[in-house]
Amino acid sequence: MQYRRLGEILQDAGVLSEEDLNRALSIQKTSGKRLGTVLIENKFITEMQLIDTLKMQLGIDFEDLNNEKIDPSMAKYIPKNIAKQYRIVPVKVQGDRLWIAMEDPLNFRAIEAAKEVSKKRVTPMIAYSDAVGRALSVLYENEGAALAIEQMQEERGVTVAEAAEDAQAANDGAAAPTVKLVNSILERGVAEKASDIHVEPREHEMVVRIRVDGRLTQVLTIPKELQAAVISRFKVMSNMNITERRVPQDGRAVVRRPDGTNVDLRLSTLPTIYGEKVVIRILSRDQKTLTRQGIGITERDNAKFDRILENSAGMILIVGPTGSGKTSTLYTMIQELKSDTVNMISLEDPVEFQIDGVTQVAINEKVGLTFASALRACLRQDPDIICVGEIRDGETAQIAMQAAMTGHLVLSTIHTEDAISAIDRLKDLGVEPYLIGGSVRGIVSQRLLRRICPNCKEEIVPSAHMLDIAGIKDPSKYHFYHGKGCHMCFGTGYRGRTGVFEILTMNSKLRDAITAGLSSTELRKVVNESGDFVPMIANARDLVAKGITTLDEAVREVATIE
Ligand SMILES: [Zn+2]
Repeated sequence: MQYRRLGEILQDAGVLSEEDLNRALSIQKTSGKRLGTVLIENKFITEMQLIDTLKMQLGIDFEDLNNEKIDPSMAKYIPKNIAKQYRIVPVKVQGDRLWIAMEDPLNFRAIEAAKEVSKKRVTPMIAYSDAVGRALSVLYENEGAALAIEQMQEERGVTVAEAAEDAQAANDGAAAPTVKLVNSILERGVAEKASDIHVEPREHEMVVRIRVDGRLTQVLTIPKELQAAVISRFKVMSNMNITERRVPQDGRAVVRRPDGTNVDLRLSTLPTIYGEKVVIRILSRDQKTLTRQGIGITERDNAKFDRILENSAGMILIVGPTGSGKTSTLYTMIQELKSDTVNMISLEDPVEFQIDGVTQVAINEKVGLTFASALRACLRQDPDIICVGEIRDGETAQIAMQAAMTGHLVLSTIHTEDAISAIDRLKDLGVEPYLIGGSVRGIVSQRLLRRICPNCKEEIVPSAHMLDIAGIKDPSKYHFYHGKGCHMCFGTGYRGRTGVFEILTMNSKLRDAITAGLSSTELRKVVNESGDFVPMIANARDLVAKGITTLDEAVREVATIE
């Protein structure tokens, strides 16, 4: 009934056709998701169109949660469980009226629930879905962490051993304050799309920092006296030995997101002078970003990307330093290449993203399942496409190149600065030049550049020095931007990242040069002479020109390697 209504409103506004509405309604029936979500996810309408239409047709106000700082005391009007279940953010209160922000202000059940728990008259407002999630995590997790710390301090006086036992007893999710605190730290990390969480004992306190877009930001401090209990909880949840504090340990755990999906965690400890430091790696990959567009392949590079993936045999390499987005590119390629008619085996360390229709193997060197031994085993399983997570030793390099020479398509990554250094690296690992020349079909080298925070973006005039380093000779053709820093981006001026690429496709001239064992300087010359090669710095300049990233960022990450 209410879905009909939303559909009709959108049709009246001319943003949705009858046909699309019927398709969306049938998807809605089978998926059980809300109609608004289905319409946006399947690109029938954009989120902005939905917001504008509801504003115009129903007079529902838009709440810009990104720019509004919500008073922490608002949390008391809507309890956390109701707020999270219905995705309601209490925004402000005046007398007996409460304003709430939601991504779907036509969700009457949610509005009823808000009325019931707040005992107020409720006015719904519409907000962006991402902003709702973020506001919920800031409003409730910080509150949750603070509350848990308070409770833990009240219960203080227990010895470390008792605290550890307490953590053990609480393993099954009982609501002990330590568990709550640890959960709210993890939830905050997942909500902020952090890649790692660092829990660091210092002399007088324990500090929690999260890595977002490659940079660490402090989000919480925990009183020193609670340190032992928090560390024990992390060790218990990842099956480490809690009585052993003198040697490094590692383990894994799984936590559940509010939407029911799981997030894999890798935990490790390191004994420091102030106690054990715990680092949690969050293995979370968003399906939506594992596409060419999501990783940042440009129109200009699309055809080259196609040409590389059209090979049915040979070696495709993705190169770059740690944290340059190689794994995302690898997963994007795997998703494009998988099919019912090929046998695709992927060897990974660790498996960060599960893909239906691909045989994924987790490398486990502790039990002797190395890349080399797994690769040998996989060659006995009639593979068409083999994905080797990383080539880091001579044995793996040899087997992989042989496989690529004998009719298999092999994808892999190498930890080097650029495409030509990857060829040097393979030679260093003992692979003969003729094998490299004969099997490599394409090399994608990449970096990640931080995107300018859309919330605090402004135009600037860069210095002549920066323009010079970036090789920009006609700055008048450009508009330059940066982010001045806001609460959305932890004051950094950046939010999210995009890849910047340099794609090398093999041609006969380059193949001959590699096979002849020419030096890297000579190989670079051959590459630069081939007409269609676009160096990474040119792609980075495009991103600056489009206002996606800053000149600073492009220069820092890219210009130095040219
Ligand atoms: Zn900002």
